[in-house]
This record gives sequence, C-alpha cells and structure tokens, in this order.
Amino acid sequence: MKILVTGGAGYIGSHMCAELLRTGHEVVVVDNFSNGTQGALDGVKKITGVEFPFYRADVCDSPTVEEIMEAQKVECVIHFAGLKAVGESVAKPLEYYENNLNSTMAVCRAMRNQGVSRLIFSSSAATYRSDNPMPLTESSALGATNPYGWTKIMCEQILRDFCVGEPEFSVVLLRYFNAVGAHESGLIGDCPAGIPNNLMPFISQTAHGLHKELKIFGNDYDTPDGTCIRDYIHITDLIDGHVRAIDFSAKNKGCEVFNLGTGRGFSVLEMVDAFEKTNGIKLPYSIAPRRPGDIATIYANPEKAQKMLGFTAKKSLEDMCRDTWKFQSNM
Ligand code: UDP
Repeated sequence: MKILVTGGAGYIGSHMCAELLRTGHEVVVVDNFSNGTQGALDGVKKITGVEFPFYRADVCDSPTVEEIMEAQKVECVIHFAGLKAVGESVAKPLEYYENNLNSTMAVCRAMRNQGVSRLIFSSSAATYRSDNPMPLTESSALGATNPYGWTKIMCEQILRDFCVGEPEFSVVLLRYFNAVGAHESGLIGDCPAGIPNNLMPFISQTAHGLHKELKIFGNDYDTPDGTCIRDYIHITDLIDGHVRAIDFSAKNKGCEVFNLGTGRGFSVLEMVDAFEKTNGIKLPYSIAPRRPGDIATIYANPEKAQKMLGFTAKKSLEDMCRDTWKFQSNM
C-alpha cells in the first residue's frame, strides 16, 4: 500500500517510514523541516535501502497536499506533522493553533477531494484533564493545561465531525503517552532542535556531555520517591500501534480513539537509575523547582488498544534506555 506520511522527517514519522518500508509498503513523505531533518530521511534510506519520494512542503498548504496526493495516488495518510513543544505553545499560542488546526484541515480537505479515506492522526495524552483518576482511559475527561494540548483536542473534534459528514471515512486518533527510545540500528532517534524539553533526550545529551547536569523538576510530589511518574513507551511499540491502526482503518469506518501507552509508570529518578545501570554511565543531576504545569502521575489504561487492535507494548525500560543511548552516542 502507498501511504502519505506528513512529518515523516521527524522523530516518530521517520520510525514509521522505516517500518512501513521494511514491511513492503511504499511511503511518500511531506515535511517542511521545521522539526524534521534530512538526516532522519537519510537514516531511513540507510536502514531500509529503499528510495522514496520526499516533498519539502508545508502541510497547511492544502492545494500542494492535494497535488501530492493526486500525483502519488496514496491510499492512506498518517498525519504526524505539527508543532509539539508544550512550553513553546504557551509562549506562541497563535502559531500552535494556526499550524496544528490548519494542517489537519488541509489534510482532510485534500483527502476528501482526492477520495483518500483512511487517516491515522497523532494525538496526545496532553488532551486529558489534569484531575482525572489514573489510569487514563479513552473516556477520561478531556481538557488541556496548555495550547498544544488544546490543539490536539480541537483537531480530534474536527476529525470526529468530519467523519460524521463523510461516512466513508475512517480516522484513527492515537493518544501517545511518552514516546522514548530509538531504532535498534541507532541511525534514527529523537533529535530535538535546541535544548530538549523532554526528559529522555535531555538525559542522553547530558550523558554525552552536551549539558552539565540534568535538572529534576521537583522531588516533593505525592509519589513514592517524590518525582513525577510518566508512562514511557518505546518508539518501536508506538509504531506497532500505528501499524495496527492502519489495519483497523481498512476494516472500520468512522472515528475511533486509542491510548498508546504501556499501562506502567516510572518516576524521573527511576528513569535516571535505569539509564545509568543499563548503559554503565553516571549521570550528573540535581533537584530543581517544579516545572509549571507538571502533574504528579500520568499513565495509560491500554486495554482498549489491547482488545480492539491486539496491541501490547513489549519493550522493557532497559530497551528504552539502551536504544536512546545507542542513537545519542552515534551522533
Ligand atoms: N523532567 C525533568 N527534567 C527535564 C525534563 C523533564 O525532571 O529536564 C521531568 C518532567 O518534570 C516530567 C518528566 O520528566 O515529570 C517527563 O517530562 P517530559 O517533558 O519528557 O514529558 P511530559 O511532562 O510532557 O509528560
């Protein structure tokens, strides 16, 4: 099958392309390199030995997306492209609403005009309200604490409404928990521009000597060791969830939403400890004040994806730490 991957030069998108090409699918990538890189595309080519069409374009530009779809005759779209830095979204809300909503609507418009009816959409656990009981199910209350999360809630709503108006469509919304790790080859991984906001890239860059130390944002939360707990999921497992969502979209019309998490939370200190033990590296860190907006504990109830997609995360915490470091130490 030929699949259009928007944001295919980014962290998750590049891993998706590698897996689709490995399993005999064709991919067409569109990315404006706002976060994605040529290096990620080169990594995918190196891993798979396959050339694929790449368009450097902004997905908000609907006519261009439509031209690409018409020229390439794709059957399915995976829409990863979007702005994703939570802190930046607070400082630049208009950019986030404009980009994430317009790109999603542009993709839908182009799909409708070209008769492409299957879409997989990158959503986030940031769509859940901060006062839900844990674990989070797909029916937990929605409500974000930052513009990034709101863009995902709004895009989900747009896509739900779109499916009502277009009954032939199949849209799968995937709410990611904390994606970490890298491809086993070490050739592609999470490579954020500038200083990383997320924990794992900051840990691995610190281990590589790019930062003096990791600052742990708060150790006075109501958790066993006082540091925040998140549901970290290996990128390979996350991609497996997408592969299953693509199959699901072939058999089901309408809009369905799934959590992609492991169902198991780890604290920041547990992540540091696992990284040190797995890689035999001592990580310098200190305790810093809480980061505004963080909540103590977030983890998924992954049962719906288990039941309806046959999805279970298989990779261990050690796999996440080893593969993150393999990629970082290659750079
Ligand atoms: N974190 C930290 N230091 C950092 C980056 C993150 O202590 O330099 C903590 C953060 O406070 C949170 C956890 O690590 O408790 C995961 O943060 P990340 O930004 O990766 O994910 P999110 O908070 O969006 O789930």
